Amino acid sequence: MTGPALPEVCDSILLTEAAIRSRVAELGADLASDHDGSAVRLVTVLRGGLFFLADLARAIDAPVTLDFMAVSPYTPGRGGVVRVTKDLDDDIAGARVVLVEDIVDTGLTVNYVLSLLRARGPASVEVCALLDKSARRIADVPIAHRGFSIPDRFVVGYGLDLKGRYRNLPYIATLRDEVVEG
Ligand code: IMP
Repeated sequence: MTGPALPEVCDSILLTEAAIRSRVAELGADLASDHDGSAVRLVTVLRGGLFFLADLARAIDAPVTLDFMAVSPYTPGRGGVVRVTKDLDDDIAGARVVLVEDIVDTGLTVNYVLSLLRARGPASVEVCALLDKSARRIADVPIAHRGFSIPDRFVVGYGLDLKGRYRNLPYIATLRDEVVEG
């Protein structure tokens, strides 16, 4: 059976399912070796990070726990206005936390979430981002583990959406310019 066809709003596949799978496996191995077999606390920002988190967690050969936050959705042109709509369930004091992000674009969201997490006294917090769109960076974000550097294009798939759609694409595709502009 074949997977979902490329939606009409997209012009091409930027990262195939196979490319994502093999890079996520490498990231999981890196995280496990960095943590020397000790527990890894994965924290993800819903909803975009969901698919990445699920695959990454299964690629880490060490004890793993999962927790979730949600922040107000990305609104182009609205700058760095971010609001927590769902908080973590677990206490992270003293924990080694890895913030798992789908994409770092301006960096404002990750920076805000990082400051919230750091205020809770974890032993460490590091960022693992699948995609790094550095051309639009405003806030300097320390990315300890990076999946792919991507060009300044709007992408969907593998958790990333356009108005809530296309998250279920198993690959990552670029939107047509006219869709982004319209
Ligand atoms: P930042 O605060 O500008 O770094 O934006 C982070 C959030 O914006 C991500 O977690 C995504 O939800 C969203 N975002 C940024 N670029 C894209 C994209 O190309 N496709 C889909 N969502 C994006």
